[in-house]
Amino acid sequence: MLKSFDVAIIGAGPGGYVAAIRCAQLGLNTVCIDEWENAKGRPSLGGTCLNVGCIPSKALLESSENFYSSMHKFKDHGISIKGASVDVPVMISRKDKIVTTFTAGIASLFKKNKVTSIHGKAILKKEGDQTAEWTIEVKDKKGTETIQAKHVIIATGSTPRQLPLIPIDNDRILDNTGALALTEIPKRLGVIGAGVIGLEMGSVWRRLGSEVTILEAMPEFLMAADQQIAKEAYKIFCKEPGLSIQTKVDIKKIKTTKKKGVVVEYIDADNNPQKLEVDKLIVAVGRVPNTAGLGVEDLDVETDERGFIIVDDYCRTNVTNVYAVGDVVRGPMLAHKASEEGVAVAEMISAIEKGEEREYEHVDFNTVPWVIYTSPEIAWVGKTEQQLESEGITYKVGQFPFMANGRARALGEAAGFVKVLADATNDRILGVHMMGPHVSELISEAVVAMAFSASSEDLARIIHAHPSLSETLHEAALAVDKRALHI
Ligand SMILES: Cc1cc2nc3c(=O)[nH]c(=O)nc-3n(C[C@H](O)[C@H](O)[C@H](O)COP(=O)(O)OP(=O)(O)OC[C@H]3O[C@@H](n4cnc5c(N)ncnc54)[C@H](O)[C@@H]3O)c2cc1C
Repeated sequence: MLKSFDVAIIGAGPGGYVAAIRCAQLGLNTVCIDEWENAKGRPSLGGTCLNVGCIPSKALLESSENFYSSMHKFKDHGISIKGASVDVPVMISRKDKIVTTFTAGIASLFKKNKVTSIHGKAILKKEGDQTAEWTIEVKDKKGTETIQAKHVIIATGSTPRQLPLIPIDNDRILDNTGALALTEIPKRLGVIGAGVIGLEMGSVWRRLGSEVTILEAMPEFLMAADQQIAKEAYKIFCKEPGLSIQTKVDIKKIKTTKKKGVVVEYIDADNNPQKLEVDKLIVAVGRVPNTAGLGVEDLDVETDERGFIIVDDYCRTNVTNVYAVGDVVRGPMLAHKASEEGVAVAEMISAIEKGEEREYEHVDFNTVPWVIYTSPEIAWVGKTEQQLESEGITYKVGQFPFMANGRARALGEAAGFVKVLADATNDRILGVHMMGPHVSELISEAVVAMAFSASSEDLARIIHAHPSLSETLHEAALAVDKRALHI
C-alpha cells in the first residue's frame, strides 16, 4: 500500500522546510521531499538559502570584512597587524562547516517534529480524482518511491538566470555556487549584475584583494531601493579601492581566452565599445522560478509568462489543494518571505482540515524587510520616495546621519543615514530606509513599527538605549516633526 500523508511539501528550502515543521506542529501527517545534494553527493536540506545562498554568503562576507578591517581599518584604532594574510581554503571550509551544521540541523528539526523526509526529485502525477489524493513519484539514485498526499505545497525555489551568451561552468564563468567556492583570490574579477547577489559576491572578493568590475545593464544603480540611498551607496562604493561599478552597459560578447581568462565585450553608458579582461566572471543577473520536471504543466497548474506559479494572496494555485510558496511564486525572492508564506499555508491547511471557519493569514509584502549586506549595509521596509510620489501620496521626511551617532563613531562606521517617511495627513510610517552599520539588525524595529501601524510620533516617544545605533532611527523619527535633538 502507498504511504499516504495529509501534506506533501516539495522542496526543503526556507519556504518548504518551515512549512513542513509548522504543518507537523499543527498535527498534520507531513512529508517533505527534496532533491538537493551537496558537493560530496550527499542529501542536504535547506535549499538555496542554506547551501549556496544566504548563510554561506554571510559567512564569507564576515571573514572577508574581518580581513579588510585588519588591513585597512584597525590602524585608526592604533592597532597595526604586520603580515596579515588570508588562507582561502580555511575560509571556505569554515563556511562549509557552518552550512553543514545548519543543513544537518534541519534534519534534526524534521526528526523532532516527526516530519517524514524523503530525498529525491518529486514529480506530481495526474491520476484519478486528484482533489481527493495527489500522487507523487520520488526518484533518486536508489530508485523510485510513490506516495500520496491530500494537500501539496510546491516550494521548489529558483535557479540562477543564465546569460544566453555563454554557459556557466563554475570554473571561469561562475554563478553563486561557484562564487562561494573559489579556492584562491582572483586577481581580476568581473561581475555581471549589480543586484544584491552581485554586490555581495563582489564585496567578498574585493575585500580579499581582487580588482572587481561590476557591469550593470540598468541605467540606475539599485533601482529597487530608495534612490537617495542608492545614489549615496553608489558614491561610497565607487570610492572603495579596487571596485568599479558601471551602469547602463550592454553586454555583447563573452569569451574565454587561452590564458585562462575571460573577456567581456560591451557598450558602455556613453555608447563606446569596451573590453574587460578578468580571471573569473560571476554572472548574477537574477533568478528564475524552478518548476523543471515537476509535472506542473501536466496538471494544468497555471504559470505566468516568466514561469512563476500563479497564486492568490493565500498562495493557492488554480488547482484544488495545491499551494505554492517562496521563490517559485510572485513577490520578493527572499528567504523570510518564503518562510512566512510556508507558515501561512500550513495554518490554512490545518484550519481546512479541522473545519475551522476563519480568515486565513497572508503575507503583507509592505512589511517585508530587504537587506543588502554590503559595507555599509543597506536595509529598508515599506515604500520608497519614488513609489510614494508615483502613487500621489503626500509624505513627510525625517532623516538622521550615523555621523552624529556616538556609537557609530565609536565603531568607526559613521557613513550613511536613516530616513523615515510618514504620511503627511496622519503621520503613519510608510517606509524606513537605512544605510549604515548593522542596519540589517536595526531594520527590525522599523518592521515592528510598521506592522503595528505606528506613527513617527510613536517611534519618537519610545526610549532608545544610549549609546546605540538605534538612536539614529529615533532621531530620524523626531526629524519627521523637525525636532531632532542631536543635529
Ligand atoms: C548568493 C545568494 C544570497 C542570498 N542571500 C539572501 C539573504 O541574505 N537573505 C534572503 O532573504 N535571501 C537571500 N537569498 C535568496 C534566498 O536564498 C531565497 O529567496 C530562498 O532560498 C527561497 O526559498 P525557497 O524555499 O522558495 O527555495 P529554495 O531555497 O531555492 O529551495 C528549493 C528547494 O526545492 C528543491 N527542489 C526543486 N525542485 C524539486 C523537485 N522537483 N523535487 C524535489 N526537490 C526539489 C531544491 O533542490 C531546493 O532544495 C540569497 C540567494 C542567493 C543565491
